[in-house]
Amino acid sequence: MEKKSAWKDSSKRNDIFEFAKGYINFLNRSKTEREVVKIAKEMLSENKDLFIKDIKGKVLVIAKPSSDILKRGLRIVAAHIDSPRIDLKPSPLYEDQDLVLLKTHYYGGIRKYQWLSIPLSIHGVVVKENGEVIEIVIGEGKEEPVFTIPDLLPHLSKEQQEKKIKEFAQGEELNVLVGSIPKDNEEKKPVLENILDLLKEKYGIQEEDLISAELELVPAWKAKSVGLDESFVGAYGQDDRICAYSALRAVQLVEESEKFPAVILFDKEEIGSEGNTGARSNIIQDFIMDLLESTGVTPTYRNIRRVIQKSSVISADVNAGLHPTYPDVQDKYNAAKLGFGVVLTKYTGYKGKAASSDAHAEFVAEVRRLYNKAGVKWQIGELGKVDLGGGGTIAKFIAKFGLEVIDSGPPILAMHSPFEIASKGDLYHTYKAYKAFLEG
Ligand code: MN
Ligand code: MN
Repeated sequence: MEKKSAWKDSSKRNDIFEFAKGYINFLNRSKTEREVVKIAKEMLSENKDLFIKDIKGKVLVIAKPSSDILKRGLRIVAAHIDSPRIDLKPSPLYEDQDLVLLKTHYYGGIRKYQWLSIPLSIHGVVVKENGEVIEIVIGEGKEEPVFTIPDLLPHLSKEQQEKKIKEFAQGEELNVLVGSIPKDNEEKKPVLENILDLLKEKYGIQEEDLISAELELVPAWKAKSVGLDESFVGAYGQDDRICAYSALRAVQLVEESEKFPAVILFDKEEIGSEGNTGARSNIIQDFIMDLLESTGVTPTYRNIRRVIQKSSVISADVNAGLHPTYPDVQDKYNAAKLGFGVVLTKYTGYKGKAASSDAHAEFVAEVRRLYNKAGVKWQIGELGKVDLGGGGTIAKFIAKFGLEVIDSGPPILAMHSPFEIASKGDLYHTYKAYKAFLEG
C-alpha cells in the first residue's frame, strides 16, 4: 500500500498555508486548557446555531443541533486541551543561597532535561479566599520577563553526565529562578520578602493565596513556521491543540449532516483522563442528556442509551511520526509519516494491545469511506514497534459507554517536547477529515 504525500497536489498549497496561519495564531493565544476554552468560545461566538457548554472553564462541549437525535445519534470529534507542562507546587516559594526559586511538580509525560535552560512563561489563576479569581500571564509580552530552570554547566557536570537520562534532572530539581534583590532592613529572608512584596503590589496576592492557585509553566516562545519551505509548524502543546483547533474549525463550517455533529474538548488526558474534567467522568452522558432536553425529548436512561448506541466518535489525538534519525523505534510498514495526511489508528496501547479500545473493522471501514469520499489524505499509523513502548488516548474511556470509537489525528515529531513539530499538510487534512466525519 503506497502512501501519497499531501503536498503532491499543488493546487491545495494555498489553502494549506492559509489554514496554518489561523492555527499558529490560535496556538499563540491558548497555551493552557483554560485559555483554549476562552479562545474557542470567542471563535464560536458568531455561530449562533451552536449549543455550547463550558465545564469549569476547562472543558468545552459543542453541538450543532439537528432534528431527531434519537434516530440519528451523534457524531463526536473529541480532543484534549491539556498538555504536558510544569505546575507550581502549593507552597512553591523558597530562598536558598540568596536566590529565590519556585518548587514545581511536572504534569504529564515530559522528558525533564528538555525543560532545562529554556525561557518559560507562567499562566494560570490564583483564587483568593473571597472567591476572586486573579488571572496571571507573565512572560508572553515583548517587554515582559520570563522564567527558567537553570541547568548545570558542562564544566562541572562530569558526575551528572554519567547518569542515565531518566536519573538526571529529577522532579525535585526542576526549580524555577524567580529573584535576587534583597529587601532593605530585612534580615531573615530578604530576597523572599522582596518577592512577596512584589506579589502583593502587582497582583494583590499573599503567600497563602498560592495554595488555591493553578499556575502552569510553559515554554515562553511563540509558534512558528519551520523549515526553508515552511511546511511545518513548531510549537509547544500541539498535542493535542492541533486536533482541538481542527475540530473547532470543522464544527464551525460543517454543512449538511446526516447525524448530529458535536465536539468535546477534554482536560486531564495527559495524566490518565482522571477527575471531573477528564474523559473518565460522566461528561458525555450529561452532554447527551442536555441535548435530549434541548430538543424536547425526555432524557430517560433508555433514551440516553439509545443515543449512545447510535453514536460514533473520533478520538482526535496525535500519533508518533516516523523519525528519520530514529526509524528503529517504529515498524515502517505501519508507521505514519509527516506530510502524508491524517492518521487512522485502529488501536493504541502497549504489549499485546493492553489498555487499547481497538476499533471494530466495520467502523474503520465506515470512517475510511467518509475520508475517501471527501478526498482526505489519510494513512494508517501504529504507535511504535510491538513491545517497545506505547501509549493511550481517551478512546477507551469513551468506548466503555458503548459508542463506536477510533483514533484519528496528525503525526507529530518530538511529541511532548517544548517544541513539537507537525506538518501543515497533515493539519489541513485533519480538519478535512473531521469535517467529513461530522457531515457523513
Ligand atoms: Mn494527546
Ligand atoms: Mn500526549
